[in-house]
Amino acid sequence: MTASAVDWVRRAGDRLFDVGGATAVASAGGHDELNGATVTTVDAEELERKARVAELLLDAARQFGETLEPERVYERFHALLGDVVQHDGLVVSSYDDREDLIRCDYAWVEGNVVDASTLPPLPLNRSGGGMQSRVIVTGEPYLFNDVADRVQQVEGVYYNVDREGTIEKIPETGAAGTSAAMMLPVKHETRVVGVVQVMTDRGAYTPEQLELVEGLAAQMGAAVRNARLQKERRRLEAAEAAARAVAEERQQAAQVLDAVGDGIFLAGADGVVRLWNRSAERVTGIAADAVLGRPLADVIAEWGELAVRIPIAERGATPRSVTLPVAVGGRDLWLSFVAVQTADGVVFAFRDQTTERLLEHERSDFVTTISHELRTPMAAVYGAAQTLIRREVELPREQRRQLLEMIATQATRLSQIVEEVLLTSSLERGDVAVERRPVDVPELVRSTVAAVAAQLPDPLPVEIDVGRDVSPAAGDADRIQQVLVNLLDNAIKYGGGAGVRVQVEGAEAAVRVSVADSGPGIAPGDQQRIFEKFYRADPQLTHAPSGTGLGLYISRELAERMGGRLEVRSPPGAGATFVLELPRS
Ligand code: ADP
Repeated sequence: MTASAVDWVRRAGDRLFDVGGATAVASAGGHDELNGATVTTVDAEELERKARVAELLLDAARQFGETLEPERVYERFHALLGDVVQHDGLVVSSYDDREDLIRCDYAWVEGNVVDASTLPPLPLNRSGGGMQSRVIVTGEPYLFNDVADRVQQVEGVYYNVDREGTIEKIPETGAAGTSAAMMLPVKHETRVVGVVQVMTDRGAYTPEQLELVEGLAAQMGAAVRNARLQKERRRLEAAEAAARAVAEERQQAAQVLDAVGDGIFLAGADGVVRLWNRSAERVTGIAADAVLGRPLADVIAEWGELAVRIPIAERGATPRSVTLPVAVGGRDLWLSFVAVQTADGVVFAFRDQTTERLLEHERSDFVTTISHELRTPMAAVYGAAQTLIRREVELPREQRRQLLEMIATQATRLSQIVEEVLLTSSLERGDVAVERRPVDVPELVRSTVAAVAAQLPDPLPVEIDVGRDVSPAAGDADRIQQVLVNLLDNAIKYGGGAGVRVQVEGAEAAVRVSVADSGPGIAPGDQQRIFEKFYRADPQLTHAPSGTGLGLYISRELAERMGGRLEVRSPPGAGATFVLELPRS
């Protein structure tokens, strides 16, 4: 096959003429110019041929319409062509006017499809010359029935391509194998966007064949364009779907990051914060907006010192956590960090361990306080017992009695401490049963005061003042007594020894008992804290009368479990007054 060009113009008389809106094809020499209009004569044979052409093109249109891949359109075009003209070669090229290049899209040579990409693109020759160039420049179809001579004489670039796809420049390497060629433009609107080249090695082509192939080529061009548009649309749809999937994945990842309980942030290589998730906001109290794009050192003042203490795991390695004190957002926190190196920087995950740390402290406080509290009575018991064992015979009777009494008192104190600790742990677990029965509070107060006073080594004035018509309270008499004992004990211990006043009064829905002393009172900053576990207010007092710091915690918890409350009032210089309020029965 030879892709070549010959200066042969389509014969005059085979153009399409338009008469009075009807379109017909004039046979050679069968038309005339009359007053500027073209008069056409059409014979029956020609009409029949035209009908066959029309039928064939209709069928082709249907077949092309079913094809959605450009490559399949070429194959179909080739198959349709085979039905109408004998050929030994077919080349379909496209022309890109931005580059001025003619590229082969499909090539078939003597029964073989040749890989079109192996054929070199040809530059457009605007001055004529090459056959394809001529079609592109003029937009006209051409029929060349003397290809062999033409490639010898007319200036242009001619190649011979064999069925194996081997390209040879002609006429230098030999004669053209092609005897005749049809060259047809493929147009988009008025622009030429390609060329179809049909070649035979034997004989010649007729203008009728040219006309038919021109029709087919036009349809093929439209079908290829359509298929390319479809393909492009599918590609765009797929790209859009892929982009949507990536966006969804990103969104999901962002949601997951926001949902995790750990604070997570990403520090870029420059130390600037690139990500700050919702938990990071929650734990530190710092909003992402205030952090993103800023260096970490601006957010956490001592970051420089902290960062060197956090081991950074390489990708794939298991990170080791480290718990550090961090002052952030005006708060002192204990944060446990893990860090992993990534391509975008270091990802830090952290967890708030402040509560756990406080609990740990509390636990160790507990052990210290309790050991201290147990040691004093135990030492006393041990000392008294030792004295009795060693010197029982020589000791006077009165002294022996005193030692035995001390053992009994200190043993009671020991069991009280153990009781308080056990009750505290039961209250924390929530398994302390509290009754709700009618309780005669004035009576309970009187008996409790009497019992406490009876145990005092020195008499202390305790004044009881009961209001009129005090209704019974709803509660647990034993628990109320427990609270009263604690309040009286404290008033005696911390009240400075000037006497205690207990007042009982009935309010609208409550029964109120207040225990007042005229001691040094409680500093405003301690008035809430004394109800915390193990809290003991005044350091001087801490050394003086002993105590676990559990009494008021237990008392308030019990009051609340009975539906009441326990408060303290201690204006400066006016002692301390504890008020227990219980619901009326
Ligand atoms: P404890 O008496 O074992 O220390 P409490 O819980 O009963 O424990 O009391 C907690 C702290 O409250 C005491 O250590 C003391 O500092 C303070 N406190 C309690 N009652 C009084 C009071 N009447 N006057 C002054 N301080 C008191």
